[in-house]
Amino acid sequence: MTSQPVPPRETSGGHPTSSAAAAGTRLDPWLSSYADRTHGMRSSEIRALFAVANRPEVVSLAGGMPFLDGLPMDVIGDLAQRVVATRGLQALQYGSGQGDETLREQILDVMRLEGIDAHPDDVVVTTGSQQALDLVTRIFVDPGDVVVAEAPSYVGALGVFRAYQADVVHTPIDADGLVPEALEATLTELAAAGRRVKLLYTVPNFHNPAGVSLAVARRSQVLEIAQRHGVLVVEDNPYGLLGFDVEPRPAIRSLDDAGVIYLGSFSKTIAPGYRVGWVVAPHAVREKLVLASESAILCPSNASQLAISTYLSTCDWRGQIKAYREQYRERRDAMVAALAEHLPEASWNVPDGGFYTWVRLPEGLDAKDMLPRAVTARVAYVPGTAFYFDGSGADHMRLSFCYPTPERIREGVRRLAGVVAGEREL
Ligand code: PMP
Repeated sequence: MTSQPVPPRETSGGHPTSSAAAAGTRLDPWLSSYADRTHGMRSSEIRALFAVANRPEVVSLAGGMPFLDGLPMDVIGDLAQRVVATRGLQALQYGSGQGDETLREQILDVMRLEGIDAHPDDVVVTTGSQQALDLVTRIFVDPGDVVVAEAPSYVGALGVFRAYQADVVHTPIDADGLVPEALEATLTELAAAGRRVKLLYTVPNFHNPAGVSLAVARRSQVLEIAQRHGVLVVEDNPYGLLGFDVEPRPAIRSLDDAGVIYLGSFSKTIAPGYRVGWVVAPHAVREKLVLASESAILCPSNASQLAISTYLSTCDWRGQIKAYREQYRERRDAMVAALAEHLPEASWNVPDGGFYTWVRLPEGLDAKDMLPRAVTARVAYVPGTAFYFDGSGADHMRLSFCYPTPERIREGVRRLAGVVAGEREL
């Protein structure tokens, strides 16, 4: 029989005495027991929004959910059945902490498209690249260590860095991604201040949320700067194969295998529900990652790995990625045309791949303040504040064009323009 935990009594010594703390204690009797590292954990602005934004009457330009209707569901269903019928004892069993060997070999084929030449032993399969971010941070970051990240940065990575009590220092990007001179200045300043920088976190292709890509010529410069400062590069690349009219750019990892940790994912090229991603890391780092992953989850899901592996070996995955690219290009076109028609007083970039447009609002407007009124007007987005460690960025919003149909995107932007017009009259 399991016994219920007994909450500490409020009146006992050592418990908070202020009325706010006492109120908190009443709401959560374990309040004083949480580890320090939980203090930075907070619900992401995106997640809090999902409940409202998922209502059918709201056009959600908020979430980054892939549009899966184009997937051959019958084929995928047959595959799942076949995996269980023919390899059920493996699929439903525990597996290797590093991940299925056949899948790791197939991952090499995917990465070759971006110039990465690796060995199956170099790959660790993870539960999405989100787990990879967690593992990398867990093995490298002590409380107070600095992680340098683009301004703005993927909200889910900021959440991980916060959870491990890192201090994130943003470094600027422009239309060509990370600015090498600014990165040099950021790292030099941090070194002069005696700060320990552990990681440079970057999304080099079709950035989330900014939509930009790191220019090919800058990739070696960024790498050289990071190496000179003794900083490991974490290259997070879930969107790299989703370019609309551009060939995949060479990964930073293709330039160096000692100073780069590369994160990949099948979430955007197949489907996120499988929760399969991977890390490629230098040998010693990889060993630590496997140990960390084993302590967190024992092993990634064999059922998911075999489903992906069978999909890769029996389906036209390159054709599926091409279909995704066309689908997302059409949605990107709808988004930028609607912005030009309805919101000409804002400014935005035209991404050449991925899921996101980064919009700067007209002077004086605050995307976070405006959000409740937008949701009332049945349109949702993510305010720029979610993508900055210090909550700045209120003059921007991220608009995702991946999920709604082109008609819904046009309608969403039309509604958004109405909200913006209303704000300017306030
Ligand atoms: N990195 C980036 C930049 C992302 O946009 C996402 C998903 N939105 C992830 C990592 C996590 O992806 P997953 O865990 O599904 O592989």
